[in-house]
Amino acid sequence: MNLKYIDFVKIYSSLEKTTSKLEKASIISKFLEKIQDDEELKICTSLIEGRVFPKYKQIELGVATQLMIKAISKSTGFSTKEIEDLFRELGDLGSVAEHCIKNMKQKVFIKKSLSVKEVYYTMQKIGLSSGEGSQEKKLLSISYLLNNSQPEEAKYIVRTILEELRVGVAEGILIDAISEAFLKSREERNVVEFAWNILTDFSEVVVIAKNEGKNGLLNVKPVLGRPIQVMLGLAAESIEDVVNEYPNIICEFKYDGFRAQIHKDFDKIWIFSRRQEDVTNQFPDIVECCKKNIKANQCIVEGEIWAIDEDNKPLPFQKLSQRIHRKYEIEKMIKEIPVQLNLFDIVFVDGKTLFNLPLKERRNILFEIVREEERKIKIAESIIPKTIDEIKNFYKKAKELKQEGIMIKNLDAPYIFGRHVGGWYKIKETMESLDLVIIGATWGEGARARWLTSYLLACRDENTGKLLSCGMMSTGLTEEEYQMLTDILSKDIIKQSGRDVIVKPRIVIEVGYQEIQKSPNYESGYALRFPRFIRIRDDKSIEECDTLSRVDALFKSQGRKG
Ligand code: AMP
Repeated sequence: MNLKYIDFVKIYSSLEKTTSKLEKASIISKFLEKIQDDEELKICTSLIEGRVFPKYKQIELGVATQLMIKAISKSTGFSTKEIEDLFRELGDLGSVAEHCIKNMKQKVFIKKSLSVKEVYYTMQKIGLSSGEGSQEKKLLSISYLLNNSQPEEAKYIVRTILEELRVGVAEGILIDAISEAFLKSREERNVVEFAWNILTDFSEVVVIAKNEGKNGLLNVKPVLGRPIQVMLGLAAESIEDVVNEYPNIICEFKYDGFRAQIHKDFDKIWIFSRRQEDVTNQFPDIVECCKKNIKANQCIVEGEIWAIDEDNKPLPFQKLSQRIHRKYEIEKMIKEIPVQLNLFDIVFVDGKTLFNLPLKERRNILFEIVREEERKIKIAESIIPKTIDEIKNFYKKAKELKQEGIMIKNLDAPYIFGRHVGGWYKIKETMESLDLVIIGATWGEGARARWLTSYLLACRDENTGKLLSCGMMSTGLTEEEYQMLTDILSKDIIKQSGRDVIVKPRIVIEVGYQEIQKSPNYESGYALRFPRFIRIRDDKSIEECDTLSRVDALFKSQGRKG
């Protein structure tokens, strides 16, 4: 079969018409299950995601807006000025191309009909042309596609090439769609997700799902040289919380560096960052060290690489950053900024995947294959604590050695991709507190219905003087404090809707928290994670509360790892 691109693009318009994730997944699943040919199935899956190359290949198509404007002009006879005006009016070049092809000024030659294969491989050619004359080659390929496309095809060709498809297909939707199409149940989405986390390429996952079903997906193995998705930690509310929940835990230093996923295939080593970038060339010292000290022939291990000073403490992160980004004079950098690797996990060894083994067993394997070398390669410092005090002391030790804090890990948990309850927890110092204004509140429920129990907090935009919301706080208060705040705030209510009230801003409180996050839900653009009440700052007027720029600065100081 030769699937026509014009038939394929109908799926884009259907996807654009709905915002429902369920519906989007259904549309995709019905489409995919009808495709017989594996190559077309792969291509369509990639194109639905708006991709021409899998993400791990890190190949960009490299077509700038100006080049696209030129291509549209060349194929349609519209001047670049006209196209720029239309771009301003319509907001996206895909719609501009659609409009221009509909209203062609040039003589229309007979168009040949495009197949999905041809569109896809031509787009790949665009991504692969580099060096001298590449702009011209890219222009020719785009023009070829536009010359032969119908208006609707042009719209999506342009958007795909510009890498802004905008039909709203996130990873989760594709996972649902593939499970529905080939495993006949969305309940099996975790099986598809498992394979995707390892292969990170939907076009491969879909073919396995179609031809080998659930078993095929469950037996997927990592490909050496291709980064997997990694496991991350949740911020713990407190040490006690984690300890009470899980009987078998281990505490490890949380090193102040960057996450490294290291693949070994005999004498070939790759180092990938958390964002799956290949940073191997920047760290030949780590490459050599892994060749020498990792005894398995093939494996994937994980750890943290950090810059080490003479006292075995971490150098400022900016130093490490220089090493990550440096592409030349690397030998000099190795001397100036030495680094150490501290390993904490292993997920693959000599043909065996270890994701389903509990951490306890993965660590045993790690110990078997790694030879430690001072100031070069070590296994993460750890304790198996018996008491909370031991954990607190271990935390203190990590801080004295200038590391970030500690991780508490459930020794019985398998390797779970992403951040999940029951796996790893991070304990970091609570950040500097903030003094914020209460601008709203919510009445409690049940036994607490007599109190205002959640408080809407705001910081001040120093440029406009406006108070901007930045989070909702409801913990850290004693009963007396709930009562006291309720007494004060209930006199200041300006507006009430349901259980929510808006109050006249009058009270400043000091608030502790775990982390500041970006958030579209609050006017400041930030939200505090786990905010907790410390005290009323009756020594401060609302004009003296913390400003947006302080929140911004605190956010940046914690977010250097992105
Ligand atoms: P965060 O970036 O705050 O979400 O914390 C997770 C990161 O901590 C991981 O991606 C690692 O880069 C880093 N890390 C440092 N030490 C460890 C450790 N012992 N176990 C797991 N992650 C660690």
